[in-house]
Amino acid sequence: MTIFSKIIAGDIPSYKVAEDDKFYAFLDINPVAWGHTLVVPKQEVDYIFDLDDATLGELTVFAKKVAAAIKKAFPCRKVGMAVLGLEVPHAHIHLVPLKSEGDMDFKHKIENPDPAEMKRVADLIASHF
Ligand code: 5GP
Repeated sequence: MTIFSKIIAGDIPSYKVAEDDKFYAFLDINPVAWGHTLVVPKQEVDYIFDLDDATLGELTVFAKKVAAAIKKAFPCRKVGMAVLGLEVPHAHIHLVPLKSEGDMDFKHKIENPDPAEMKRVADLIASHF
């Protein structure tokens, strides 16, 4: 079971943003910007491009809805979308509100994000979903 499956199952806590029967969205624990959200399929697949075409499409459409909620919660130019997958072997999309290119620098993380602020951010995005 991957760490993200444990999060989806509720065995590990997360700052949940949105969920449906197939997908789950929650804040990245080490955000590069406030509102940095991960969107994952509940199905355990390591590499995003190993998802079948229908699930990949549905994941993208779910991410689109989450991105719209992020944009309402955090006014920005665009919500950036990235796939890395080098750390956690469970397919996921990163969504990050962008005002400039540098806002999506994965080497720059917010240091020790305040848990109360993380909760507020997740609830704010969830309220726009
Ligand atoms: P990637 O696999 O895309 O290279 O990186 C995995 C991402 O997942 C990282 O940005 C990391 O901060 C995040 N991450 C890793 N473990 C956890 C976790 O237990 N909870 C949450 N919310 N995010 C995590």
